Amino acid sequence: MKLKALNGFKDILPGEVEIWQHVEATARRVFARFDFAEIRLPILEPTELFARSIGETTDIVEKEMYTFVDKQVTMRPEATASLIRAFIEHGLYVQKPVQRLFTIGAMFRHERPQKGRLRQFHQLDVEVLGSQSPLVDAELMAMGSMVLQELGVHVSLEINSLGCPQCRPAFRAELLRFLAERMEHLCDDCKRRSASNPLRVLDCKNSGCRRQVQDAPSILDHLCPDCAEHFSAVQDGLRRLEVPYTLNRFMVRGLDYYCRTTFEFITTNLGAQAAVGAGGRYDGLVAQLGGPKDGPGIGFAMGIERLVLLLQQRGGEQAWTLSVPDLYVAALGREATQSCQRLAYLLRAGDLRVAMDFEGKSLKSQMKQADKSGASWVLIVGEEELKTGEGLLRNMQTQEQQRVVLDADSLSRMVRPPVRHLIAADDSVVQQN
Ligand code: ATP
Ligand code: MG
Repeated sequence: MKLKALNGFKDILPGEVEIWQHVEATARRVFARFDFAEIRLPILEPTELFARSIGETTDIVEKEMYTFVDKQVTMRPEATASLIRAFIEHGLYVQKPVQRLFTIGAMFRHERPQKGRLRQFHQLDVEVLGSQSPLVDAELMAMGSMVLQELGVHVSLEINSLGCPQCRPAFRAELLRFLAERMEHLCDDCKRRSASNPLRVLDCKNSGCRRQVQDAPSILDHLCPDCAEHFSAVQDGLRRLEVPYTLNRFMVRGLDYYCRTTFEFITTNLGAQAAVGAGGRYDGLVAQLGGPKDGPGIGFAMGIERLVLLLQQRGGEQAWTLSVPDLYVAALGREATQSCQRLAYLLRAGDLRVAMDFEGKSLKSQMKQADKSGASWVLIVGEEELKTGEGLLRNMQTQEQQRVVLDADSLSRMVRPPVRHLIAADDSVVQQN
């Protein structure tokens, strides 16, 4: 029997992993500028954490969670609930009333695997806990936009407000009246949702349902004065920071904990998997999970798989480099190999990336390997070179060869790569050592 990775679970191989590193490094750099601190969270959590936060009648909790039923534990389907659990458990609000945190890692949802949709996927997740200020909403969206801009992916930002427990019931009632008249035309899922979670009908991907809800009432016409003021301040904030956005009055998001501001970063380049990132405010959630009563919060998550796909599609100049050796050492014979291993060790201690193998291959075959590795230089050492203490250093670009003393310091000076100038996604020149 051939053993293969599970459907929807994917290996990330060298060649692609560099793009992941680039995405993660870009995000970390931008998050740091906005004064966010990293937090690392466990993958396994009590099932109840997600049932209580994401909501019993959401797709995630109803059908997408990986749960060990005998243990009452679940592989996290998202990071917000875990992060808030940690925030409460460690009393982080005591040290610092407003916490800005991010985490990067794997999430698990039992969905139908497609391009950009996996069962193990990875998110960049950021959360601000403890602030109600609409300026935070605007800044968070601006930060997300900055990450995307620095990656060079073009997406649009759509925003909506979901109101709060004060204004939502009246809207819900009106929406129910509207849906009741069209019930027979809705898909089975939506018929069921109308009873349990009618707002979700607005978000159904089914084209028939979309047609039906085109003229549905909008929550934006039902916001209470506080929510309306908050939402207008969020938009003012976005305009001040010059972050372009559009209003999407049908966006509801598939998680129950959201209130007020919700948003999505949308692309037209990934087919049905249009959302590259999404998030919103969840002012009641901290209290609901046992934290302080006035514990507002807002956050978003971006899918790394989808960002990587967009970067792969973009083509053009790459802002990431493949990992290639600075130097390939081709040693011939046992003694030369042993002595070159020591030389390579010293060069590595001096921060060079050195490739070398111990398979006793011919010079021709080692040169082939060196070429394939992309190394800029090859050092050739046979018995003769060992005796004289001088090896042959070959520049793989110019094919020029010269004799060099087999000494780590002098070799290091010759091989040390010049500062690399890279063209970043935004066309600026980036220097890398
Ligand atoms: P979608 O509408 O695509 O199902 P979602 O609303 O379920 O997304 P969120 O829970 O808001 O997604 O997660 C935030 C981001 O995580 C998404 O915008 C997407 O980029 C990514 N994401 C979510 N589910 C998956 C998945 N199964 N595979 C890959 N990426 C995913
Ligand atoms: Mg989903």
